[in-house]
Amino acid sequence: MIEFRRTLAQEGAKKLVISIWEKVYKNELPTIMFFGPEGVGKSTLSLEFAQSLVCSQRNKPCYECYNCRRFGELKSPDMILISGVEPQPYKLRAETYYEEAKMIKISQIRSMQKEVQKPPFEMPLRVVIIMNIEDANLESQNALLKVLEEGSKRTVFILISSRPNFVVPTVLSRSFKVRFSPLRYEDFSKIVNTDDRVLYELSEGSPGICKGFIKMGDELHKSLEIWERIIYFDDRTKIDEALGLFERWKTYFLKIGYYVLKRYLYDTEDFDRFSRFISSFRHVEIGYRRNTFTKALYISSLWNPKFSVI
Ligand SMILES: [Zn+2]
Repeated sequence: MIEFRRTLAQEGAKKLVISIWEKVYKNELPTIMFFGPEGVGKSTLSLEFAQSLVCSQRNKPCYECYNCRRFGELKSPDMILISGVEPQPYKLRAETYYEEAKMIKISQIRSMQKEVQKPPFEMPLRVVIIMNIEDANLESQNALLKVLEEGSKRTVFILISSRPNFVVPTVLSRSFKVRFSPLRYEDFSKIVNTDDRVLYELSEGSPGICKGFIKMGDELHKSLEIWERIIYFDDRTKIDEALGLFERWKTYFLKIGYYVLKRYLYDTEDFDRFSRFISSFRHVEIGYRRNTFTKALYISSLWNPKFSVI
């Protein structure tokens, strides 16, 4: 029997994974993609799924047998994890992920490619987990495609993505896709222990992201206020404060901007101004992820709709 106890809610995704388990185990379905919003359980389920594939007990995963522990602690050479951040045992995704994630390097894909040519060392199966595959550039994604095409006996690939539209179609089409949804308000409020509707909407039903907003404390409401001043009233006197908050809270601060912006569109139906902000947000996000972010860039892209960093 297979039961995933660490991933909360996501009943649909869990059921689907259980229904394909046998095929994955027999290596008839070597590439799976978990996609859906950030922080809703994709990486937790990928780890549990990997454990269930190697678990030596009847009820899988047991979390306690040698194989489950080796995978859970990320100690087994047969668990290859590729990520933009340093992973922590039992928790593939560090809480600081959204602030610290960097691009996946092609060297990470290449060294994995070498490994998967060998048989697994100690487990019946090898599992390769790639976190946020959209954080790999085109070259790296194409290198990955080659690995998937060549295939590897007794290796299962689990690709994770919160933005599958940034994944090359050839990789997408090779993957069996499992969709993760934002949590319903009832599940969300139980998990993060809050009945704050604004937090739910800001986090878009993602408990992982909500933790980051809770850490902001008072600066959460301050950020909401500043974004309102900037978006609704074009108040440029707030720019220094905004930059300070952005430096401290990075993508969380931008997410608050998105949230206020959506409300702005709803209130005013001013689509021009809405799309101008959306494109500037994208530039800042990409600049930040590629390490080309600067204050000057932020200011320029926020107030000059023609300015582009891409
Ligand atoms: Zn086990």
